[in-house]
Amino acid sequence: MLIIDCPFCGPRDEREFEYCGPYRERRPDKMDNLSASDFIDYLIVPENPEGVGREFWWHKRGCGEWLLVVRDTRTHQILSTAEADAE
Ligand SMILES: [Zn+2]
Repeated sequence: MLIIDCPFCGPRDEREFEYCGPYRERRPDKMDNLSASDFIDYLIVPENPEGVGREFWWHKRGCGEWLLVVRDTRTHQILSTAEADAE
């Protein structure tokens, strides 16, 4: 079981959260400069890194905030949590 330290609620059981995928850059504003292949990659090819990665989590049974969690996928150790919009 993971304990996720929500910046708003404090340490909570992972069952209060929903994993929402790896961190991704926001959709590009200027689509004119993006090839079709790059746009398809952006839409449907998620990164799946082994090791330390940044992930979105939603505290759906808590404060309802979106979090950016840095987690090592090999050990599940959570290295940091922050408000997702703070980046
Ligand atoms: Zn929370």
